[in-house]
Amino acid sequence: MKKIFFYSIPAHGHTNPMMPVAAELVKRGNTVRFYSFNEFADRIKATGAEFISCDKYLGELTKKEEENLKAVSTTEMTLQDIRVTLSMDEFLDNEFKCHKPDVVYTDAVCFWGKLNAWKHNVPLVVSTSTFAFNQLSSGYMKHSPKEMADMIFGLPKISKELKKLEPYGYHVKSALSLVQNDNKTDSVVYASKGFQPYSESYSDHYLFAGPSVFSKIKPAKEKERPLLYISLGTVINDRPDFYDKCFKAFKDMEIDVIISCGNTVKIESLGTIPDNIKVYPRVDQLEVLSRADAFISHCGMNSVSESLYMATPLVLYPQTGEQRAVARRVKEIGAGVELKDDSVEGIKRAVSELLNNKPYKDAAVKCCEEFRSCLGSAGAAEFIENAPHKSNGKDLLADVNKASGKFRIVYWMIIALIIVLFGIFIGWGYVWIIGVAGGTLSYPIGKIAQNKIYKSMVKKL
Ligand code: UDP
Repeated sequence: MKKIFFYSIPAHGHTNPMMPVAAELVKRGNTVRFYSFNEFADRIKATGAEFISCDKYLGELTKKEEENLKAVSTTEMTLQDIRVTLSMDEFLDNEFKCHKPDVVYTDAVCFWGKLNAWKHNVPLVVSTSTFAFNQLSSGYMKHSPKEMADMIFGLPKISKELKKLEPYGYHVKSALSLVQNDNKTDSVVYASKGFQPYSESYSDHYLFAGPSVFSKIKPAKEKERPLLYISLGTVINDRPDFYDKCFKAFKDMEIDVIISCGNTVKIESLGTIPDNIKVYPRVDQLEVLSRADAFISHCGMNSVSESLYMATPLVLYPQTGEQRAVARRVKEIGAGVELKDDSVEGIKRAVSELLNNKPYKDAAVKCCEEFRSCLGSAGAAEFIENAPHKSNGKDLLADVNKASGKFRIVYWMIIALIIVLFGIFIGWGYVWIIGVAGGTLSYPIGKIAQNKIYKSMVKKL
């Protein structure tokens, strides 16, 4: 029987998948202390875990900070993560000394969980509520120019804040080193191995547990007419304009529609809602998905996993880099169509495409079967109980990186040779053009080579 500390940030998408794991650990006789926030208190207590409120450590936010967090600014989230870690330091020091946990189970972006496990030398298991991202799979994340600017201009502020952690005994190289998945850290990923991009590049410190869901409900789609479910998640859902377009798109279609619009939008302010559409601030999403035939989703990892777990194909409407990565993977496995045009006509077209073409449904059913064959929360619980894990040393990513490094050396030797030959036989005046072209092309060519190397190594496995 072990004592396990759970940590998560105040976000549904990060906290929800940890709850069934907590319930499973408690059922197996372990003690779970779940450090979280009041909005999750009831659901955490229902798992049998002890709930420890951390709200008072969140601190007051300025209006600007609040807006940035709502817009999912990576810089703001990182800065807040650091601030909360500092304000919780003394409290967590006491908690670790007093309760002596055997294992820490923390969300991948929850700095105070990870940093305290390291500081107090307690075995750490990371809960990865999105895909696991490393040098290969992070290529799936396409950031918008606004997100790129936020990250680039935020770097100096972040490195200044990170320095404040050092005197408290938290040693951090960079923010990236804190959030990126590495092959030496025990990690639970709530995706199946088949759904995780570049899954072979992860060491056996990884458990691909499949979606972590409480529900035992099975998909049951028989009914008179199709059911469409719409949700933009729990973070960026303040989109009355989008819900209004959905009203217009579906009011005359022979389908039923359920919209979960979150707490920010006031349902009364949405105007006249057509008879075939029902709008709620929150629904039992798994129950609705078990009956739904299509889901317009913002592509949060949990929503997508739950949708495929219930064999429901998706209309993909991602808003952030991480969501774009999830959307790309759903498209690759054939279980969704992208909503490129979010006009009334575009929305209608995408939903009709999904409802009228069986291959989308078939791909979702296939994925549902794979998800349901995963070890799930029970497997995750066992993995956490047995941490730290030994590895057989296989690290395909390290091998890919080594081979890519060699490729880069050869690439630059060829560029240097071309420059010399050009200079000798044609003239030195324009050799800088070759240097600039070589530099510009080095990244995309390097990525293509890295992919080829990965694929050939996987083939040899
Ligand atoms: N959710 C729910 N009811 C709703 C809307 C959302 O239970 O009406 C849950 C959903 O089941 C999922 C989580 O909230 O587990 C949303 O997580 P996701 O990663 O999809 O998106 P986020 O809200 O973090 O952007």
